[in-house]
Amino acid sequence: MSSYWTATAGPAPPDDGIAPPAADTDVAIIGSGYTGLSCAWHLAKTYGIKAMVLEANRPGWGCSGRNGGFARAAIGRHGYARMIELWGRDIARRVFAESLAAVQNVRDVLREGNITGGGTEAGHLKIAHRASRAAALVREVELLQREFDYPAQFLTAAQLRDEHIGGGEAHGALRFPDALAVHPLKLAYGMLGLARAAGATVHGASGVTGWKKPAPPTC
Ligand SMILES: Cc1cc2nc3c(=O)[nH]c(=O)nc-3n(C[C@H](O)[C@H](O)[C@H](O)COP(=O)(O)OP(=O)(O)OC[C@H]3O[C@@H](n4cnc5c(N)ncnc54)[C@H](O)[C@@H]3O)c2cc1C
Repeated sequence: MSSYWTATAGPAPPDDGIAPPAADTDVAIIGSGYTGLSCAWHLAKTYGIKAMVLEANRPGWGCSGRNGGFARAAIGRHGYARMIELWGRDIARRVFAESLAAVQNVRDVLREGNITGGGTEAGHLKIAHRASRAAALVREVELLQREFDYPAQFLTAAQLRDEHIGGGEAHGALRFPDALAVHPLKLAYGMLGLARAAGATVHGASGVTGWKKPAPPTC
């Protein structure tokens, strides 16, 4: 499948080919998106555990190679105001800290994998596409500053036009200054390289059709 990301990611790095018909591994991982590749990488580099990643298509073929590329302080389906209502300030603050740590993690992977062009410190704009949406963004900026001490910014329509994007359909924006714009497929390719360099094997065209859970040993 072709996309902007496939057209600009450069050649796919090598993987370990189709999985052999019989093989031993400490851990078999199904799927070579960010989850599977990160798991294999961390098992290998942190614990010395041999992992084998089995991918039905090509590494990075799923969401990981074709997403929007936004990495910012956001997590889950609820906005932060709703999280505070549902779970209270303390938990909302911990969730927010977790989302910042996730962005930092992406930054660390880009650096550790030396993933050229994989991400830029562009910040993120949440744009009011109608004038009536701007007030809600102002409230969100105030909440992020007050509750999480986060340097969110509100940009007026004029500031947006002067500093970021032209056009007449933006009526202000919430700016997350420390967000990353990520090239998702380059990130996936980079993680493939990190996992393999750490000792994991990653097998494309190796769909998993079933598995068995061994019975627990009898005493
Ligand atoms: C349109 C879209 C936009 C998004 N935008 C963003 C965004 O801007 N920012 C953000 O943070 N997140 C975004 N996401 C979410 C993000 O892309 C996913 O959370 C992330 O990629 C999930 O990674 P994963 O490794 O769990 O799954 P995937 O990347 O989907 O990997 C799963 C892999 O498993 C393989 N597989 C499936 N079944 C089998 C099988 N039986 N045997 C072997 N292999 C198998 C698939 O081929 C696939 O490669 C977006 C998602 C979508 C769909």
